[in-house]
Amino acid sequence: MIKLSAGTAHVLGMRKLSTDALPTTAYMMSGERCTHDCGFCPQARNASSRTDLLSRVTWSQCRITDMVNRIRAAYEKGQLKRACLQVVDGCKAIEQIKEIVKEIRNCSDIPICVSAKVKRREEILALAEAGVDRIGLALDAASERVFRLTKTGNWQETLDLISEAADLLPGRISTHLIVGLGETEEEMVNMIRYMRDLGVIVGLFAFTPVPGTRMVGMRPPRLDCYRRMQVANYLMDIINTGDCRFNSGRLIDFGLSAELLTEYLKDGKAFETSGCPGCNRPYYNEKPGGIIYNFPRPLSKSEIEEAIDIVLKTLDGRS
Ligand code: SF4
Repeated sequence: MIKLSAGTAHVLGMRKLSTDALPTTAYMMSGERCTHDCGFCPQARNASSRTDLLSRVTWSQCRITDMVNRIRAAYEKGQLKRACLQVVDGCKAIEQIKEIVKEIRNCSDIPICVSAKVKRREEILALAEAGVDRIGLALDAASERVFRLTKTGNWQETLDLISEAADLLPGRISTHLIVGLGETEEEMVNMIRYMRDLGVIVGLFAFTPVPGTRMVGMRPPRLDCYRRMQVANYLMDIINTGDCRFNSGRLIDFGLSAELLTEYLKDGKAFETSGCPGCNRPYYNEKPGGIIYNFPRPLSKSEIEEAIDIVLKTLDGRS
């Protein structure tokens, strides 16, 4: 058995869901209750959250054999662009992944991304050999200080593993960074830059307080802060900007004129979900009808104007 996000189950015709944004990636989860104890995660060892939650998303069980044929059909119809497998517990993770990836590979060429707690280079290579297209190694926290406050595990070992994986499989590693765990914007921008320099794709998340987690009492990030981080992440991707200025840790200048910045942002792509190609994660961080941190679809003209306006208004004169 495997778990599918509610949106994925809907796209695969296994569950009815009323939604205005369908996932373009099939989100799958294997295992229950992680060996780690991150303060923000409903799957953490000591969380008392429902076990059918990851971020804000609910997950339902299905048989792997039922799922794979439906994934093939949805990929062939262009409804899905990628499959993302999240393995939450460490025990036998690599064996589980190999089995699931083999089942999918037997009937489809859909690109597969796997996020799991791998620790050694042999495990990274084993995943690549199993037919995985990209490997997600989540760092989550933008600095060692925030890592120690919010996560378990070892900061330096996690960074070293990401760097080693990026060397072993160039252009095939992704990471997640969560905005709003207590980092400064300068720490976040520096970490995004570090990952980009390694050739690692960054998927940005907004911290989302989930009932039953240690950090449920904390607030999500301010929207203006999140928009600046999206812009920093996007600009590093397209022009590798390195000229940001900060005031007390807050980003106040991208080193570009307002006109040039607007030109780069006018298609709205900076504000869409970031991460592996084809991943849009609808409502991972958002309540339907609430603030949209990551747009899972192209933005309307007015949404683009509003997002750019938020960014420009909070910068220091020049940009
Ligand atoms: S960016 Fe998307 S597809 Fe890639 S690992 Fe993260 S959730 Fe999965």
